[in-house]
Amino acid sequence: MAESRPPFSPGRPTSPSTITLDGIVRDFDGVRAVDHLSLTLAPGEFVTLLGPSGCGKTTSLRMLAGFETPDQGRILLGDQEIQHWSPQRRGFGMVFQNYALFPHLDVFENVAFGLKTRGVAGSLLRDAVLAALTRVDLAGYEARPVQALSGGQQQRVALARALAIEPPLLLLDEPLSNLDQALRFRTRMELRSLVRELGITALFVTHDQEEAFDLSDRIAVMRDGRLLQMGSPEALYLDPVDPFVAGFMGRVNRLEGVVEEDGVRLVNGARWPLPAGGSRTSIPGLDSTREVILLVRPEAFRINEGAGVPSDGASTLHGQVSDVRFRGAQTLYLVDVAGLEAPVEVLGPAQGPRVGARVTLTPADPARIHLYPSASS
Ligand code: ATP
Repeated sequence: MAESRPPFSPGRPTSPSTITLDGIVRDFDGVRAVDHLSLTLAPGEFVTLLGPSGCGKTTSLRMLAGFETPDQGRILLGDQEIQHWSPQRRGFGMVFQNYALFPHLDVFENVAFGLKTRGVAGSLLRDAVLAALTRVDLAGYEARPVQALSGGQQQRVALARALAIEPPLLLLDEPLSNLDQALRFRTRMELRSLVRELGITALFVTHDQEEAFDLSDRIAVMRDGRLLQMGSPEALYLDPVDPFVAGFMGRVNRLEGVVEEDGVRLVNGARWPLPAGGSRTSIPGLDSTREVILLVRPEAFRINEGAGVPSDGASTLHGQVSDVRFRGAQTLYLVDVAGLEAPVEVLGPAQGPRVGARVTLTPADPARIHLYPSASS
């Protein structure tokens, strides 16, 4: 069957559509790589798939691109089902970790490739390629062989090639991973502002939480092929659905305990009132178990020198500072608490207690204590 694709005209106003994954499943030899994944990308939204190695991020991206066909589920562009369309018909832009440029072609021809397959030629082609190269700050590089470019420049050529076709969706699979740290950071910022400026819908794959935070309007956290939680970086950080998501979003202290009538008794014997308001006290599974995990971020503890207990009887840990680490505007304190296996990590003022000091730790805000059934780890 002949495939229909709208004629390409550079500079035409884009009319981005919502992209939907609806219950996508993909099995490889009996192993479920993607397990009923459903998510929606709003027009112009930058979404990141974040998760550990092997959780199904790349397979999900490849299904969107059309390189893999889902075993179950639908992919929608607007209200059109596209899961059986070829990659060419979908016309999505792709940028990969290894750049995937044509080594025998120069910069111009690499960027021109997708446009030529769409029948663009002559001055229209030239203008579109030059515009794409200007966007990524590579005007004047047209005649260079791509192999003579640095990694960062090659990745910008790949981005120019992907953007030149003005795709309805830009798919990026760990595109910054091969760059050194400084370049990676700079390219990340450039990518974000370029995509935002063009209003392109983008799906980015990474296992790097900081990268996801810097780039994304929303992040989808995956594990074992499943979507655990999707939301803004702030929502995932402040209100994670489970300890796995909490841990993936940044450093977190994990305190184990048992729910008793008037609160939680931690493994070291400390008694804490049940956290209320904003914390997850009513999540599924909590009724059937008394064993719980309390999670508190390092910056959500207040650290005070001395052994005094706050007069309001708030949750308290007593300990001794075992290490102090410089973190710029703040300092990281490692505090040994009798009866707890790992030292408690606390971010506090730069000029705080020294190693060996006796300290009291209290949560700065009860809403920053997260409570989960221990089975949810
Ligand atoms: P990474 O961050 O390491 O790239 P990922 O989250 O992108 O990992 P996928 O590459 O999507 O994960 O892989 C998900 C699961 O599917 C893994 O268990 C992987 O081994 C398996 N898998 C992926 N592609 C294939 C394939 N072509 N044949 C067999 N198994 C595959």
